[in-house]
Amino acid sequence: MIPIVHHPAYVAPAPARSTYRWNKNGLIRDLLLAEGPRVAWHAPEPMPLHWLEAVHDPGYVAEVLAADVPYLKTRRIGFPITPEVAARAQAVPGGTWLAAHLALDYGFAANTAGGSHHALADTGAGYCVFNDLALAAVRLIEEGTVDRLAVVDCDVHQGDGTAALLAGRPEIATYSIHAEKNFPARKARSTLDVALADGVGDDAYLATLAATLTPFLAEHRPQLILYQAGVDPFAGDRLGRLSLTLDGLARRERLIARLTRGIPLASTVGGGYGDDALEIARRHVAAILTLGEAIAAR
Ligand SMILES: [Zn+2]
Repeated sequence: MIPIVHHPAYVAPAPARSTYRWNKNGLIRDLLLAEGPRVAWHAPEPMPLHWLEAVHDPGYVAEVLAADVPYLKTRRIGFPITPEVAARAQAVPGGTWLAAHLALDYGFAANTAGGSHHALADTGAGYCVFNDLALAAVRLIEEGTVDRLAVVDCDVHQGDGTAALLAGRPEIATYSIHAEKNFPARKARSTLDVALADGVGDDAYLATLAATLTPFLAEHRPQLILYQAGVDPFAGDRLGRLSLTLDGLARRERLIARLTRGIPLASTVGGGYGDDALEIARRHVAAILTLGEAIAAR
């Protein structure tokens, strides 16, 4: 059985004036429910306030939780923060943290949301409110669950918020493989950044991933991996600049499972954009199921 973390608050109603596909997480849940007993469901607690404040500026945390975020920040995030969006923002990092604990028990677990890698200390950005990857990573280290961990980010956009929030923490290594010319225009510095030219396809992408992630893992020897499994490197993605096929995305998940052999891995959803929300959700669920199968078999 594949451990799946989901919270009802993930499926927040769409705020007005939002271009973000708010039903993506509900569709991911429905597709996974259709897998029946193949998946085991777990519900997280919201991330406690003091852990939110361990990574984010307490003033920004208070703005989000009160659903009173200044306009310039909501514009940078891409949608207004309603009470429902605030509840979701607090539940998702709790889910990534729970998925990490389940991964330590079972080898793999998936959060059905998260991968909010653009959120910074005092503001969200790029459809991200709180940075679940940085929040879970800091809590896992500071509570003593693991001594070393890595965030591996395969979203087509750089994990700039994660890199900035986790800089100066030698026990947490960050890896990002992304399209160089894509958002964000100004990149942060991850422990290892792998910048790809526009239009890179399956074989070149997978070869570069293997050639760079292998030495990264050997050097940093993480006891746990938080994985950002964005499917926006897909050729048909509205916001991607790469040219992976659906088969290439599946090969990516099998390669991640192989390269991280022996290391528990918790996955988060990450980016995936287009007009057909069901197609996007199918790509995310394929990533979760492919990873779950490949990690169980390794
Ligand atoms: Zn992305």
